[in-house]
Amino acid sequence: MIRFFGLIRSYGGDDSHPTVTSFAHLFRLLTIYSPTDKIIHGNVKTDNESSLAVTAYVDALKSLRKSVIAKNKDSRELLEETLLSKLFCGEADQNVLQVVLHDHSYCLPSPLRSITYKLCGFVAFKEKSFSKCHSCVESLVDRNPSTSDMLFTKLKDCGRLTYPSLALVRLLCDDIEPVLDKKLITIDDPMLFVQSFLAELDNVNIVGIGCSVDHSSKLVVSIVFYYVTIRAWFFTKNKNKEDLRGRLAKKNKMKMAKTT
Ligand SMILES: [Zn+2]
Repeated sequence: MIRFFGLIRSYGGDDSHPTVTSFAHLFRLLTIYSPTDKIIHGNVKTDNESSLAVTAYVDALKSLRKSVIAKNKDSRELLEETLLSKLFCGEADQNVLQVVLHDHSYCLPSPLRSITYKLCGFVAFKEKSFSKCHSCVESLVDRNPSTSDMLFTKLKDCGRLTYPSLALVRLLCDDIEPVLDKKLITIDDPMLFVQSFLAELDNVNIVGIGCSVDHSSKLVVSIVFYYVTIRAWFFTKNKNKEDLRGRLAKKNKMKMAKTT
């Protein structure tokens, strides 16, 4: 039984802790996929109607998968181009030192800024997925952090956390996060979130990071795209949790009202 559950879970990819619903989905998919795969790749080949039907079914699924991947790729490229046109990407910032001078260790950062800093650290940890250029990758990480924003991250650190560079913190904490936070809180229709966020970026003036102007634009777009995605994911997760708690509380209240 344990092996069976482990086997189903292993098909979930990165999501190795499926919910009841996603487990049921995986199980249903496997009950179709496994027999189909055996029929197609079996040691006996026939050209009867059933084999042709199954082959056509698999071909249709494959072409559907290819078209979806192509569509997603096009959408992503379009979104990245729009982001690029919205964000001003100049030369690598030379004014970071000024930020250091204004950053006094006795100033305690706000809780939101401390959490955002930690999230920036996670982005810095993923450094190699944004660029293959060694200098660009190095510009995202702070090897000797000394800013006051790092206090919360330092408390949580057991020796394995990555600290973001000041340029990355300024890009995400100071330029992107205020716009993003405002949009996430005030948005009514989630379907309009992307357009609304992109429109708001017209008022943001960003100085790029990285080793050169050529690398900077692509690096900034990749980082902003990734940051917005994970931020929106955490926001949705928390909102779903709150909604669930609210529904449960309402249900319990109704039960109590019935019993009394
Ligand atoms: Zn570079």
